[in-house]
Amino acid sequence: MFLDVKDLAVRKLRIRKIYAPGSIDYHTSEIKQVAPVEVTATAELLEGQIRIEGQLETKIEMVCARCLEPVIEDVNRSFDLFYAPLPKGAKPKEDRLKDDDTEIGFFEGDGLFLADVLREQVLLALPLKVICQSDCRGLCPNCGANLNHEECRCETHATDPRLAPLARLKQDWLKKQ
Ligand SMILES: [Zn+2]
Ligand SMILES: [Zn+2]
Repeated sequence: MFLDVKDLAVRKLRIRKIYAPGSIDYHTSEIKQVAPVEVTATAELLEGQIRIEGQLETKIEMVCARCLEPVIEDVNRSFDLFYAPLPKGAKPKEDRLKDDDTEIGFFEGDGLFLADVLREQVLLALPLKVICQSDCRGLCPNCGANLNHEECRCETHATDPRLAPLARLKQDWLKKQ
């Protein structure tokens, strides 16, 4: 859905839309939308700026930071956003909607795509890291086994690194016998 300033200049727009998984490109393979993005919002033109106010809901699959198993995050976010026309002569940024210095984003040309706005809001709503359960035991750094599901041999044979030279001495001694 394209929010065109010319339309918004005529009337405020009421938005009720559903974006199925796959219809918004998050530009990352680390997250996956696993439920529709349901959005209700209003869009209007206020003193030359596009104002988008509303709420969205979806579910996003991330991976556990410890064991890499999938974790589903419920996303529920309200927003009240302003987008100003990109000043003429300003260099378009890689992400034209974002400006780190202010709360105001920018749009180029005739307006902006609602999907771009939603992508940004979903990403902002997500925590940087998730874990599948508070006592997730993670992966064995040696063999990669998921320690929530299995014990691995490395763990039972793990030695204090400070004792490793002793262990080697003992092995050598055993070999000589
Ligand atoms: Zn985990
Ligand atoms: Zn292991």
